[in-house]
Amino acid sequence: MADADPDVKRAVDGEIVRQNDGLELIASESYASMAVLEAMSSVMTNKYAEGYPHKRYYGGCEFVDVAEDLAVERAKKLFGAEHVNVQPHSGTQANMAVYLSVLNYGDTILGLNLSHGGHLSHGHPVNFSGRLYKPEYYQVSEKTGMLDMSEVASVARRVKPKLIICGYSAYPRTVDFKAFREIADEVGAFLMADIAHIAGLIAAGVHPSPVKYADFITTTTHKTLRGPRGAMILCKEQYAKQVDKAVFPGTQGGPFMHTIAAKAVCFKLAMETDFQDCMRQIVVNSKRLAGNLNSSGFNLVSGGTDNHLMLVDLRGRKLTGKVAEAALGEAGIIVNKNTIPFDPETPFVTSGIRIGTPCVTIRGMKDAEMDLIGGMINEVLSNIGDASVKSGVRKRVLELCRRHPVYV
Ligand SMILES: *Cc1c(COP(=O)(O)O)cnc(C)c1O
Repeated sequence: MADADPDVKRAVDGEIVRQNDGLELIASESYASMAVLEAMSSVMTNKYAEGYPHKRYYGGCEFVDVAEDLAVERAKKLFGAEHVNVQPHSGTQANMAVYLSVLNYGDTILGLNLSHGGHLSHGHPVNFSGRLYKPEYYQVSEKTGMLDMSEVASVARRVKPKLIICGYSAYPRTVDFKAFREIADEVGAFLMADIAHIAGLIAAGVHPSPVKYADFITTTTHKTLRGPRGAMILCKEQYAKQVDKAVFPGTQGGPFMHTIAAKAVCFKLAMETDFQDCMRQIVVNSKRLAGNLNSSGFNLVSGGTDNHLMLVDLRGRKLTGKVAEAALGEAGIIVNKNTIPFDPETPFVTSGIRIGTPCVTIRGMKDAEMDLIGGMINEVLSNIGDASVKSGVRKRVLELCRRHPVYV
């Protein structure tokens, strides 16, 4: 690459330095293992393999079939699922395929409001899901910042959805999949759990699993699962055929075989005790950091966290998410601005930031480092216009990062 395209090479090298030298607190990110990166950059990217293992529309698929069979078998074992499709290119496309498999144009879907922690692909008006289907929304309680299942039930009774969606992008608490199942049964709806964020925690037994309760489960493989950028669908055997048809030929062409090989590697690693220990520590670290921020006077949506992320409500500090994200970024602490429930600001400004602990935990950081990070966040946000504070923190961030390299 250095010879063929020095411009792109420079960008990639810059990204390597950025990842090494910054504190990544974006809740949807993680670091894929070297073995996953190796599979992703393999020659399997050259191969066309439309169809499914041993039933392809192309010759020469004997080795990519091995990779896809391994990915499917391992995913089934990891989650205890009856059927798995590992071909979706992204979380959004996995959701699209599930919708195509059970919904007709104009059917009602019920998901969590985007500004309360839901995802664009759960029925937001600008997304295909809000344009091809009729979106309805439930929300979190204004008082507690948490889901109130009796309120979800009353919305479901009123709007009579064909599909209920649970699983979120910015919800810091445990999801009660059993309660969602009961609501879905009462109103005669399908239930889809989108576990994109928490799949790794579920695989490690750190968050309850929806496998017993949901008709369909979608997940990305690149968030807490630590795999390649991609996704998969888990479902009961009775939906296997229609889900497979909805992925290919319904919404995708040729599968990304290099990515599927990397998914297989990721699922193997996710069954190991190192991975389970890491997921447990992610939650321990998240609670520690939440407690630290709380004691510095920050308000957290719902008061804390049960998982890998927290949402900081900055209104008490008279700051916006946009300003906080930029100031922390200058100090080498990478977070994203995020709407908080009932946010008075626009999605470009927001009143909150979302903070997640997967990346720093994978780097081996624990309690003591969480306290340092909480302290530095407080320092920057308490001295928002002070350049010397930011450059002082930037130096300490660099020292901390150098002590905990991403790839060793
Ligand atoms: C990240 C996420 C997705 C989408 O994944 P992409 O791969 O970015 O399309 C879907 N659902 C939820 C809940 C997510 O957090």
